[in-house]
Amino acid sequence: MYLRTFVAQITIMAKAGPIVCSFCGRDKKEVKVLIAGVTGHICDMCISQAFKIVSEEAGAQGNQQVKHALNVLKPHAIKQHLDEYIIGQDEAKKILSVAVYNHFKRISHVNSAKEDIEIDKSNVILVGETGTGKTLMARTIAKLLNVPFCIADATVLTEAGYVGEDVENVLTRLLQAADYDVANAERGIVFIDEIDKIARKGDNPSITRDVSGEGVQQAMLKLLEGSIVNVPPQGGRKHPDAKMIQVNTKNILFICGGAFDGIDKKIAQRLNTQAVGYSASVAKDEIDKSNLLQYVSPQDLKSFGLIPELIGRLPVLTYLKPLDKATLRSILTEPKNALIKQYQFLFKMEGITLEFDEEVLNLIVDKALEFKLGARGLRGICESIMVDFMFDAPSDEKVSKKLTITLEYALDKLKNARLTQLQVA
Ligand code: ADP
Repeated sequence: MYLRTFVAQITIMAKAGPIVCSFCGRDKKEVKVLIAGVTGHICDMCISQAFKIVSEEAGAQGNQQVKHALNVLKPHAIKQHLDEYIIGQDEAKKILSVAVYNHFKRISHVNSAKEDIEIDKSNVILVGETGTGKTLMARTIAKLLNVPFCIADATVLTEAGYVGEDVENVLTRLLQAADYDVANAERGIVFIDEIDKIARKGDNPSITRDVSGEGVQQAMLKLLEGSIVNVPPQGGRKHPDAKMIQVNTKNILFICGGAFDGIDKKIAQRLNTQAVGYSASVAKDEIDKSNLLQYVSPQDLKSFGLIPELIGRLPVLTYLKPLDKATLRSILTEPKNALIKQYQFLFKMEGITLEFDEEVLNLIVDKALEFKLGARGLRGICESIMVDFMFDAPSDEKVSKKLTITLEYALDKLKNARLTQLQVA
């Protein structure tokens, strides 16, 4: 009753002539409510549809804000978080925590810039053998900060126009990781692995073109320093007509990693010559020869074949220690997502409690050291031991609810496994 009076009242206000909804065209007899505006009408059905659209849009925007919320943490908190996932490497964790903290301070300063001081970018270079946790460190930071993250391999990059990937393709991956949300990608983190593989070949600036070494280093400069780069949305050169996306790299944090095989000799050389003069920063008898990497300096990267301009754009330099037996043993069981915890979790899902004898864990570590694969070898060895078990247990109705992997069992499985394969795994 009330509704009808309401319709009557508001339709009176509208102009004369057939009264229909200006959105869907329905006649006033077909609808419950028809509200008149200055020049038209809207029916109840169109109102509820419009309400749905508006709510969905508002929800999407809300989510977007949640997705973009930056987790800016202080260096101590960043390091504490890294400690949960990465064993040892204290020096690198500390330096990286500070670099990341400053990076985000810099971003917030840029956003609210009132003063003249511009804080430089704190791109990072990590030097350390393969499997010591360089990628893990970059990935853990990105996850913690809730920013897009991608990994690029420097070995596949070449100077534009040559066979291989263009340097801009690195940013295509970041865009993909950010679901093509350019603003979000522009504050992401890019990990460039194997940066040592694009070192200049030979000491002299090249006579013939060095398209995969020095040429790539030159091409990378513009990414690292912060400029607007045209990025092919799909990557590659297969879609020459595709519209380029412009990405500003000013606030993208680049973390580069490399093993720099043989750099210890260059460090030793430098320390030896330095230790003679007055300016020696480390006295000769204080040098810890078992870990020369800790003395790595930009000068050594230059002797290795990185061009000074590139080194200048990677101002934060730190190193990762080779993993010793005790560290590998901890990596196996201590981090939040340690391998052994992962296997135990997998079996728990089957209702089985899985235990490993202490000797088995030591055996896994010994084998990983033997194959010189850093922590990366641990997984392959564990898989060789566990695969039969994981294959049989789910279908075995009589399987015991508590299982222990013994040394005897592990040795037997490793004997049958083609362990040589682990070297290339
Ligand atoms: P890198 O990039 O130095 O070659 P990664 O970061 O890819 O090595 O390490 C390979 C794997 O080894 C990681 O996924 C991780 O499981 C393990 N790992 C390596 N170093 C550590 C560490 N210090 N603490 C915990 N896990 C590690």
